[in-house]
Amino acid sequence: MEQARAAALASMAETPVDLLIIGGGITGAGIARDAALRGFRTALIDKSDFGAGTSSHSSRLIHGGIRYLEQYAFHLVFEASRERRVLLRIAPHLVRPLAFLFPVYRGARVPAWQLRAGMWLYDLLAAFRNVRWHRWLRPKNVRRVEPGLRDRGLVGAALYYDAQTDDARLVLATVRSATRAGALVANYVETTALLKPDGRVRGAVVRDVLSGQTVTIRAHVVVNATGPWSDRVRRLDDPQAAPILRLTKGAHVTVLRKRLANEHAVTLFSPIDGRVMFALPWGELSYIGTTDTDADASPDALRVTAEDVTYLLRSANAAFPDAHLGSNDVVSAWAGLRPLLREDHQHPSQVTREHRVLESAQGLISIVGGKLTTYRVMARDVVDRVAKRLHETDGRPRAPRAPTDRQPLPGGEAAELEVLVEAARARGASEATARHLIASYGSEAAAVLNLVDRGRRLGDPMVRERPEIWAEVVYAVEREMAVRVQDVLIRRLHLFYETADHGQSVVPKVTAMMKQLLGWDDSREAEELRDYFQVVERGRIKV
Ligand SMILES: Cc1cc2nc3c(=O)[nH]c(=O)nc-3n(C[C@H](O)[C@H](O)[C@H](O)COP(=O)(O)OP(=O)(O)OC[C@H]3O[C@@H](n4cnc5c(N)ncnc54)[C@H](O)[C@@H]3O)c2cc1C
Repeated sequence: MEQARAAALASMAETPVDLLIIGGGITGAGIARDAALRGFRTALIDKSDFGAGTSSHSSRLIHGGIRYLEQYAFHLVFEASRERRVLLRIAPHLVRPLAFLFPVYRGARVPAWQLRAGMWLYDLLAAFRNVRWHRWLRPKNVRRVEPGLRDRGLVGAALYYDAQTDDARLVLATVRSATRAGALVANYVETTALLKPDGRVRGAVVRDVLSGQTVTIRAHVVVNATGPWSDRVRRLDDPQAAPILRLTKGAHVTVLRKRLANEHAVTLFSPIDGRVMFALPWGELSYIGTTDTDADASPDALRVTAEDVTYLLRSANAAFPDAHLGSNDVVSAWAGLRPLLREDHQHPSQVTREHRVLESAQGLISIVGGKLTTYRVMARDVVDRVAKRLHETDGRPRAPRAPTDRQPLPGGEAAELEVLVEAARARGASEATARHLIASYGSEAAAVLNLVDRGRRLGDPMVRERPEIWAEVVYAVEREMAVRVQDVLIRRLHLFYETADHGQSVVPKVTAMMKQLLGWDDSREAEELRDYFQVVERGRIKV
C-alpha cells in the first residue's frame, strides 16, 4: 500500500539505520533479507519498482550454468548447483524443475563425446543431487520426444535438468521476506546524492519519485546494489571512479509455444555465431534467448532491436526448421543488461559471471557481477562485510549468519504443490486458475482466494481464457507493494508479456480499481493510464 511505503520512508528518514541498500533487484533484495534476519536495522530503496531492472529481464533460469563448463569455471557451476538446490527447497512454487534437451549434430562445435562427458561433470558438480541424473537419447528417441527439432545430422541429445523461475516474483518474495524480518522497504525512491559529513559515506539523499519530496537517510553502512547502474552510484561517491562494469545486453522474444511445439527446454547453438542459447517453455508461450552483445546504451534506455529479433528467430528457425518464425510471430520481447565485471578483450560470452564486493576509500560498499541463481551467496558475502563494519563502528557483537538457506520465502512453506492446487480447486477455482495461483503465490494463494469471498466478481478471469483473476490486482496492491499500474500488469502479473495487446484491454479497469484502493485523484489516474500506454509503445520493435 502507498501508506505502508510512505511510513517506511518516513521511518528511514527519522531514525538512522544500520544499513541502507540502494537497489531493489534480486541482489539488493537478498541483502535486505539476510541483513534483517541477522537483526540489523535495514532499509532498502529502489528508484523504480522492485525487480524492474535486470532482475525481471533474465532468462528466468536457476541453473548450474552448463555453458560455464566450457570456460572451466567449475567452482561457479558447483556453487550455482548448490544454490539451485536451496532455491528449489525454499521457494518450490517459484523455482521449478525443468527438463532440457541438448541435441548434437554431426560436425558440431561440441561433439557428442564431449557433451556426454560434460553432462557427467554437470551432475558430479551438483553432487549427483540435481533434480534427476541426465540421460543420453539416441536420435530415434529424440525424434519421439521433440519431433519439431532439426533431424538432419542428428547424432543424439542429452536430457538433463535445471530449474526455471519467475524472476520478478522471486525478487518480490525476497523483499517481502525481508520486510517480515523487519526491513524497511520503499520502491520509487531514488538516491540522488550520498551523505558524507566527514568524508565517509554515512547515508544518502533520496527523492520520492511519486511525491517529488526529498529526504535524507542516515546509515552506518551504505551498500550499492544497483546492478548495471553501479558505476553511476559509485560516481556519486567518487566522481573520478573508474568503471568496473562491462555491460552486455541480452534480449529475448516470446512466440506462441505451438509454433515451436517444444515439449522441453531446448539448448542450442546459434548457427550465426555458435553461441549457446535456449528455447524455453512458459505456459502457452516459448521464449527464445538470448543475445549477448556489448552495450553502451544507458540502462534506462534499453530496447530490443530488429537485429536482436532477427538473430533470435534465425537461430530458432535453424533448430526448428518447420517453425518458419517471422517477426509477426513475436508476442513480446525484453532485454536486460548483464552487470558483469570488466575484463577487457574478452568476448561478451566469455566475461566472468562471478561477483565481487568492493569498498571505496570513503566506505561505500558495492556488489557487482553475479547472477540470479547465486544471489543468496552474494548477499551473504555482503552482509558478512557489513557485520564486520558494524562491529568496528560500535563494538556490537557479530550476529551469527542468517538461515537464509532454510527459511522458506513467502508462499514456499509447502512443498506439496498438488495438494495446494486441490485446495484451490475445492474453493471454486478452475484448474487453470488454481495452477496459476499456486505457481505465483504458493501457500499464499489461499489469501488471494479469501479476497474472492469479499466480492465474488473478484474471482472472474481478467482476460477471457486466461487464468489470472481480478482478486490478484487487490492482492498486488494490499500485500505486494504494487503502487503503479505497471507494477501490477508487468511484474506481479505478466499480462504485459503474455497477451498480444500487452494487457491494454484491462488497463482501464485495473487503473480504476487501484484508484479506489489507493485513493488516487483524477490526474494520477490519467498519468497512470498515459504512462502504461507509453511503456507499451516504447516496447514496440521497429522492424
Ligand atoms: C538477458 C539476461 C539473462 C539473464 N539470465 C539469467 C538466468 O537465466 N539465470 C541467472 O541466474 N542469471 C541470469 N542473468 C543475470 C541476472 O539477471 C542478474 O545478475 C541479476 O538480475 C542482477 O540483479 P541486480 O539486483 O544486481 O541488478 P538489477 O536487477 O538491475 O537491480 C538494480 C536496481 O537498482 C535500481 N537503481 C539504480 N539506480 C538507483 C538509484 N540511484 N537509486 C535507487 N535505486 C537505483 C534499479 O532501479 C534496479 O531495480 C541474466 C541477465 C541478463 C541481462
